[in-house]
Amino acid sequence: MSSDVIIIGGGIAGLATAHQLLRLGATVTLLERNYCGQEASWAGAGILSPLLPWDYSEPVTQLTQLSNRLFPQFIETLRDETGIDPEYQASGMLVLSHSSARQHAEPWEKVEDGLDRVAEAWCARHAFPLKRVRSHEIAPALARDEAALWLPDICQVRNPRLLRSLAKAVEHSGGAIVENAEVASWKIARGQVQSISTSRGEEYTAASYIVTAGAWSRQVLGEHALKLDIRPVQGQILLFKAQLGLLQAMVLQEQDNFYLIPRRDGHILAGSTLEETGFENRTTAQARKALLSRAHSLVPALSEEILARQWGGLRPGSPENIPVIDRHPEIPNLYLNSGHYRYGVTMAPASAQLISNMILNKPQPLDITPYRWPV
Ligand SMILES: Cc1cc2nc3c(=O)[nH]c(=O)nc-3n(C[C@H](O)[C@H](O)[C@H](O)COP(=O)(O)OP(=O)(O)OC[C@H]3O[C@@H](n4cnc5c(N)ncnc54)[C@H](O)[C@@H]3O)c2cc1C
Repeated sequence: MSSDVIIIGGGIAGLATAHQLLRLGATVTLLERNYCGQEASWAGAGILSPLLPWDYSEPVTQLTQLSNRLFPQFIETLRDETGIDPEYQASGMLVLSHSSARQHAEPWEKVEDGLDRVAEAWCARHAFPLKRVRSHEIAPALARDEAALWLPDICQVRNPRLLRSLAKAVEHSGGAIVENAEVASWKIARGQVQSISTSRGEEYTAASYIVTAGAWSRQVLGEHALKLDIRPVQGQILLFKAQLGLLQAMVLQEQDNFYLIPRRDGHILAGSTLEETGFENRTTAQARKALLSRAHSLVPALSEEILARQWGGLRPGSPENIPVIDRHPEIPNLYLNSGHYRYGVTMAPASAQLISNMILNKPQPLDITPYRWPV
């Protein structure tokens, strides 16, 4: 079987890349080891922003802001093509810093602590709305009413729905998705990939090959990974079946990046852990206890009685959270779009656009040098 492009890995990075390439007229085959959209992309919380956007370097900002601009049209296209609603919404994010300087402050008081000044300067520079509020104005269910920062434009999406919608849209646009197809070996000759084989022995050929295998990208590339630094970093999350309307906005606790995400049907996600467990993705009683205790102390109504589920996922961890979106330095028809670490859902439309433009020799909307393959 031959196509213009073969994509290896059916998470958000692979599916969004397939969707974009198909829209640009390429033929695409996507190979997925198990079933599409079951790994990190399924497990994620769906916040469409770095947790504290001002904490990240310019390459992360550039990519996430490009995605923010692309998301409304991306979602509309998916809804039109598939009828599945990924529940994209600007539910906003309330940032609690619990700093003693700000706890008793009124929002109109000028309290010049570090977080506020850095946040305000960043938001002004990037035309990102930010307001000082009392937390109960936005989230009355919180245990404490305190001075907080309100970012009304931060959006969220419901990952499993987004993935189902993307997979359906890829097939609707003529893309071939092959599941239970684990890429196991590369045939390289004359400096180019000639074909790849799956563990079942099937051989696939294409003009170009893109690895989007998330935390497994180095494994898939084997000796061709060169100095690629992508490693699995586990995250665990709890899901509460709360009363509808208990929380309307996302809430983020600044010191430990702990967050609560309300869904439209009343479910609330509480996450997440950052754990180096290798490729082990088991949920633990220790994480459950820690997340439950944080959730309960922020919003007392979030108790064990309404705890519905716990899960984990392996993020593709990368230095400074900067993904690699590039051509292989030695094999010109081999590409990578991976290493999005904590923000792979946020970055998906932008990085799909960059890698597709690179393959199809189209102009880029931003400087892509920060996303180079390390050598
Ligand atoms: C708890 C948690 C919370 C998160 N919250 C957010 C958030 O709020 N916002 C955000 O933007 N991001 C978030 N993330 C991060 C985000 O989920 C990831 O960055 C993103 O999902 C990575 O997508 P991916 O497609 O690269 O990887 P994955 O979704 O892991 O997909 C990789 C795919 O490759 C396949 N594969 C592996 N090896 C092979 C092979 N040999 N052959 C074929 N296929 C193969 C796998 O089976 C898998 O389906 C979170 C992650 C976690 C775990």
